Amino acid sequence: MSVTTKRLIYDLDYDQLSEVLSVREEPQYRVKQIWHTIYRELNDWPDSFSTIPTVLRQQLSADFNFQSLSKETESTSEDKNTQKLLFRTRSGHKIETVLMRYERRRTVCISTQSGCGVGCPFCASGQMGLQLNLSSGEIIEQVLYFARQLKMNGESLTNVVVMGMGEPFQNYDATMSAIDTLNHPAGYNFGARRFTVSTVGLVPMIERFTREHRQVNLAVSLHAATNELRDQLVPVNRRYPVEKLMQACREYVAQTNRRITFEWALIEGINDSLEQAQALADLVNPFLCHVNLIPLNPTKDFSKSASPVKAVSAFQDYLHSRGISCTTRKPRGIEIQAGCGQLAAEQ
Ligand code: SAH
Ligand code: SF4
Repeated sequence: MSVTTKRLIYDLDYDQLSEVLSVREEPQYRVKQIWHTIYRELNDWPDSFSTIPTVLRQQLSADFNFQSLSKETESTSEDKNTQKLLFRTRSGHKIETVLMRYERRRTVCISTQSGCGVGCPFCASGQMGLQLNLSSGEIIEQVLYFARQLKMNGESLTNVVVMGMGEPFQNYDATMSAIDTLNHPAGYNFGARRFTVSTVGLVPMIERFTREHRQVNLAVSLHAATNELRDQLVPVNRRYPVEKLMQACREYVAQTNRRITFEWALIEGINDSLEQAQALADLVNPFLCHVNLIPLNPTKDFSKSASPVKAVSAFQDYLHSRGISCTTRKPRGIEIQAGCGQLAAEQ
């Protein structure tokens, strides 16, 4: 079997690995041991699986692939707090993953697709179009990469945000399966509430997410409060207009009693007026929610600019005056194209 046709070990959930081992008549506790060595001790190669008998180690390395992403380039921001990795997948597609250090937080921002098919004009991933849906193992491996690196410094991850390349709700099963493995008590055991998944607003998938009652945080990229404007900024709005999206969000909050975050990329002269702030406040006022303002980051094919600081604070002040919880995201790693919406895997 060549390396490329071997299954990626991280693609198997706990039951699938149990199945593989029971066919081989291995005792069930081996599953726990293997997961422990991979996800807790963060070992990346069977040779280092000291608790596993040599024969089984050899079998594992013959049957499974333990590294699917190859590192192409690494960039670090001037303040050293943001680090961006460009990886190539087995199929040769490029994806990017970002680690952000902020005070005690160590947040990894992961991709679920190479490129994105939704096509928001201001987003570099959208400008690439959809290239590939990542497998759950490829999503997990991005987290493990930084978890291992931090471990070497005696640190660990505190948050995982699914806000890199791609629309996670268009690759729903792989994304949730990756989160489930990382959250699994025998896996990485990373608390569900430390994950945030950001969606562009695919209503049927928000409904599914609501039904599943997950403890993972949900963020919805709104960017405009009227259909006229949102149709231009977020093309899927034509299929899932603002009223339907808000209905799904209301239902999410009602069913789960969890706060929802709305993201709003502030674009000068486009969606930073007080009228939009007012329309936004009217939409979200009855909700348990938080608004995250992101001054637009520059991308190759979108010529508009970020809202000036004054407009950002006026927008935020207005929302505060309406009693809405709201923060402005500090730009990070812009000079290395690691900011929100800048991931395009270009060299
Ligand atoms: N597809 C998902 C998650 C990835 S994008 C989504 O759209 O929600 C993560 C966040 O970055 C989204 O809120 C997105 O709208 C925002 N974003 C995209 N391009 C941006 C840009 N150029 N500047 C600021 N934020 C941007
Ligand atoms: Fe895709 Fe999100 Fe970018 Fe829109 S903002 S193109 S949904 S990654």
